[in-house]
Amino acid sequence: MTKFLPVVEKFHSLQGEGFHSGKSAFFVRLAGCKVGCKWCDTKQSWDSTKFPLLSIQTLLHEITEAKNQGAAFIVLTGGEPLQHNLDDFCKIIKDKNDFSKQNPIKVHIETSGVNSMSGFYDWITLSPKRHKPPKDYFLRRSNEIKIIINDKEDIEFANEMRRKVLDIEKSTQKIYEKKFFIQPAWNNSKGFALAIEFAKRNPNWSLSLQTHKYLSIQ
Ligand code: SF4
Repeated sequence: MTKFLPVVEKFHSLQGEGFHSGKSAFFVRLAGCKVGCKWCDTKQSWDSTKFPLLSIQTLLHEITEAKNQGAAFIVLTGGEPLQHNLDDFCKIIKDKNDFSKQNPIKVHIETSGVNSMSGFYDWITLSPKRHKPPKDYFLRRSNEIKIIINDKEDIEFANEMRRKVLDIEKSTQKIYEKKFFIQPAWNNSKGFALAIEFAKRNPNWSLSLQTHKYLSIQ
């Protein structure tokens, strides 16, 4: 039972990246991550003991408020949010949705896919990392795959991830509707050049930019 979660920050803003870019969203950044990306821009979130534990009821209250203020969905991010068991958190949201029925709260999650799945979501963004590849489950069930591009090896990794999805589709004889994005790491001119060139040559992929950083918003 996970009734409390360590929270780095929570705020109402616009989704800056990926398929839902530009939409109103309430972000809950959970603390704790053991993935250890060298270029991580949220290293302060790694140690979950440094952040306050908030009750899932308190979070639900704030999410409901944000929804009333126009948030189209919530985004669970981190850190690595699936380092925590999110079954109870998602269940209280589902219970609230079942009770009110109209205009349900939609829950999105952004994960590296290295932990086991918990909770249930309307949208899963898989952001796999080269040094710790994701579990196959996330290659199947994610709605979008977003690869951060720092160098040429990340382009190879992007190709490998798509190949794996296609292999899984072949072996299961199912089509997993999925969007593929490459996103240059912030402030990395080499990553930008590689990502733009790759998107130009590979129509199955789209370029994702961290638009919130250009706008200087959270
Ligand atoms: S998975 Fe995300 S939060 Fe964790 S180290 Fe990598 S970029 Fe940072």
